[in-house]
Amino acid sequence: MGVTAIVGANWGDEGKGKMIDSLASHSDLVIRFQGGNNAGHTVINDQGRFALHLLPSGVFYPNVLNLLGPGVAVNIKAFLEEYQTLIRQGITKPQLGISNRAQVVLPYHKLFDELEEQRLADRQFGSTKSGIAPFYSDKYLKIGIQVADLFDRESLTEKIGRALEQKNILLANLYQHATLTAKDIIAELDPYIAQIEPFVCDTNQLVQQALRAKKDIILEGQLGALRDPDHGIYPFTTSSSTLAGFATVGAGIPPHAITRIIAVVKAYSSCVGAGPFVTELFDKAGDELRSRGGDKGEYGATTGRPRRMGWFDLVATRYGCHVQGATEIALTLLDVLSYLDEIPVCVQYELDGNQTDYFPSTTRLNKSKPRYKILKGWKQDITQVREFSQLPQAAQDYVKFIEQEIEIPIRWISVGPHRDSLIRR
Ligand code: GDP
Repeated sequence: MGVTAIVGANWGDEGKGKMIDSLASHSDLVIRFQGGNNAGHTVINDQGRFALHLLPSGVFYPNVLNLLGPGVAVNIKAFLEEYQTLIRQGITKPQLGISNRAQVVLPYHKLFDELEEQRLADRQFGSTKSGIAPFYSDKYLKIGIQVADLFDRESLTEKIGRALEQKNILLANLYQHATLTAKDIIAELDPYIAQIEPFVCDTNQLVQQALRAKKDIILEGQLGALRDPDHGIYPFTTSSSTLAGFATVGAGIPPHAITRIIAVVKAYSSCVGAGPFVTELFDKAGDELRSRGGDKGEYGATTGRPRRMGWFDLVATRYGCHVQGATEIALTLLDVLSYLDEIPVCVQYELDGNQTDYFPSTTRLNKSKPRYKILKGWKQDITQVREFSQLPQAAQDYVKFIEQEIEIPIRWISVGPHRDSLIRR
């Protein structure tokens, strides 16, 4: 398999966790390369139903090494809690490593995230308040804390103190909040520092060794292409790149080593948080899709928030697959559409009196209206189907229509949340 990136082509929640859990059985390493515990994957396999937020989705295979690369935002408390929850649920101890160069989400990142959303009130971005935007801001301001810094108390105190010089001005003056000291912050982290130590490693060395040994590696993306800060619906994006291209940086993989990019595409649309969403449904059709979607309705795995729902958007998805550089597509949640007589698919946007196939910038997205083509529904349960040719003709036609419009092969079709509910084409 070589090196495969498995990434989202939409707004996130495409079922990447399910796909990675299914495909990791043949791999040696799974590496998260960006984001933190601000979003989640739901994984359902023979061992149970699990919500993963920070741990890579290869943790259900004891022979797979799961790494958090340097690009990940590591909340050490959340990492340990998630790990312990898995062990309590009876999962065999997974092999896990955290890059010594990854940076740590600090208690004040979460605090600033909350205070800023409060300040913005009705103009807020819909942050999950996990501290991710303040974390990445600090990283690029060069006042972040690397995992390796946690084990040198003197330097840690000095670095946090330096960051607090500016943070305390904001706390006192912008947010009218009590100021913080390095001592307070370290006291909050302290119970977790020793516990995290056994996981810390030089992931670059491990990756180089794995590449030399021709191991199979999966690079795991969080969220989707439309949440990428450069290519997505900025500013309603996340704060780290969600693209397979960034996996080279966030996991430490040479660009030429990635031979396969699987864009995970949802058979309809969903979106969490604020921002333009052209095919959004505001009526009963949206409520019905939400209640039938996912494995238990479309609600955020981390926040429990109801997801905004819409029909499949070819304009957005084609763009998402292109910016991901997809070499193949995994089309997920096809079974969810089985209740519909007819299935609308957005084929173009109407913008300023013209029709466009191309995904516009955020400001122009707000003015775009969907133009739909209506496809036939199949009205039968497809969750037990494992061969493409056994799908009802209308379901085959739906898949082929999307493939023909995006011009990237759909190699996988997911027909249920369980690891095994998968058609390989
Ligand atoms: P991720 O972050 O991309 O992994 O996606 P989430 O886990 O947040 O959301 C996907 C939801 O759909 C989860 O509840 C999965 O269990 C569920 N799911 C994944 N694939 C399928 C599928 O093919 N059919 C159905 N019905 N549910 C699926």
